Amino acid sequence: MTRRLTRKVRVGGVEIGGDAPVSVQSMTNTPTADVAATVGQIKRLEAAGCDIVRVAVPDRKAAGAIKEMKAAITIPLVADIHFDHKLALAALESGADKLRINPGNIGSRDKVEEVARAAKERGVPIRVGVNAGSIDRSRYGMPSAEALVESALDEVRVLEELAFEDIVISLKAFDVPMTIAAYKRASKLCDYPLHLGVTEAGLAWEGTIRSSVGIGTLLAEGIGDTLRVSLTADPVEEVRVGIEILSALGLREKPFTLISCPTCGRCAIDISAIASEARRRLEEKPPSRPITVAVMGCVVNGPGEASLADVGIAGGKGAGALFAKGVMLRKVSESALVDELMKEVERLAGDSES
Ligand code: SF4
Repeated sequence: MTRRLTRKVRVGGVEIGGDAPVSVQSMTNTPTADVAATVGQIKRLEAAGCDIVRVAVPDRKAAGAIKEMKAAITIPLVADIHFDHKLALAALESGADKLRINPGNIGSRDKVEEVARAAKERGVPIRVGVNAGSIDRSRYGMPSAEALVESALDEVRVLEELAFEDIVISLKAFDVPMTIAAYKRASKLCDYPLHLGVTEAGLAWEGTIRSSVGIGTLLAEGIGDTLRVSLTADPVEEVRVGIEILSALGLREKPFTLISCPTCGRCAIDISAIASEARRRLEEKPPSRPITVAVMGCVVNGPGEASLADVGIAGGKGAGALFAKGVMLRKVSESALVDELMKEVERLAGDSES
């Protein structure tokens, strides 16, 4: 897949755009002024593979808390500002690595200019983050792909007039076709890096699907430089889904990939239980190099898939055949299949003690 070439901006130690890998972001949902709780959540996000974290800055206390948080975390921190440009200035003073401002509500041009000047002095990029719900309808009309892009590019022009070009753009809507159309349009009209997302996508199940369709469609067309999956759920779930979307498109390597068949009337072992237990153990102790594991129900597709993976099983009656690198190793009883599978994973990854 050929990725659209964009400019590159640097957010703390992470690059967005150009040839940089597509990064995964999330946003904390603890009160930002509660430094202990927010740092705790950021550390969980870091452990899940989050590249950049955003925090809401609703007041001065939250802006001040950024300084303390920055000393305790390793990933870059983005300050999310609405309504009050003075909070953006305070977040910059506290060491925020990037600002997200919403052109629909940040205020008059002189306020945007003040923020841009302060960000430029510190080499901090700004994301112009337009949401369909907060678009200025008196100026742009009802939300549409065109309105989202026009609103964002008007704001970008204000920044460009100040010679500020460390810009990332997002154009989020709940409506997936509108979101896709907006990003496609923006990608034709400018070369700033694009932050992908379907906003207010919903609870984990439906939000995952809406985000995967919207973000996945764009990424598959080479559009998008960073992403956030928005879920009404633990933010760690957003990171897991974001990484999975990238992995499905071959844009990010994971410690393990689990292939499992959907099962059918031919299956004579409990594939669902075996696959779930295999995933649990792989997450608990990820292999030190990427491994593909196949858990297949029977001999129809099983040996083929199992032998194409690094390690795999193909089920039989109360038992399964264990494969590694295309070679069948041995027949194993159903109750011992996960144990034997994991031993082979460890052996292949070079993680076994013997
Ligand atoms: Fe059915 Fe076998 Fe295919 Fe699994 S691998 S879906 S059990 S035919």
